[in-house]
Amino acid sequence: QSKLLRIQSCIRAFTDFPTKGIMFRDICPLLKDPAALTAAIDLLEDYVKKNHEEVDLLIGLDARGFLFGPLLAQRLGVGFVLVRKKGKLPGPTVSVEYELEYGKAEAEMQEDAVEAGQKVLLIDDLLATGGTLYAACELMKRQQAQVLACLVVIELKELNGKDKLKPYPVFSLVKY
Ligand code: 5GP
Repeated sequence: QSKLLRIQSCIRAFTDFPTKGIMFRDICPLLKDPAALTAAIDLLEDYVKKNHEEVDLLIGLDARGFLFGPLLAQRLGVGFVLVRKKGKLPGPTVSVEYELEYGKAEAEMQEDAVEAGQKVLLIDDLLATGGTLYAACELMKRQQAQVLACLVVIELKELNGKDKLKPYPVFSLVKY
């Protein structure tokens, strides 16, 4: 399909970034190409409208989830909420700790951002081990929101992030 090809052509790979042995998938060319970015949002919108029409809110993950999230939220006619790294959000917050490759991190959200019973979709640029999205799902659970699915532009299949996120469905545009 031509939209997918256009998106794929805008994802670059860099070896040994940020550390040796890691192949980093760079989405900057996708943001720089208006047709490719529109195509990405189009395909995400199609998926949501076909499968999760009841969505109330879109939740974006720090930091590249913030690049795609608001564009998609506008298309869907729903609000956008930030899940940030700890210490960035004012007012009362809720947070969960999660494991990184080296050490720990904390995902944080404003306490009043999501209401109990709301149906939410999560979005990030890339799914690797799934640790980041899993932490965000835990935050949603804590606020008694219902996670309909996780959306990503890129999925790194060999890291099995999809299994970690079960039972939540994962939708990705490009798989490696
Ligand atoms: P995970 O928690 O699934 O292991 O890692 C996913 C998180 O790390 C996402 O927030 C994503 O932005 C970032 N990430 C990890 N590897 C890459 C990569 O190769 N390219 C990009 N763009 N982001 C990555």
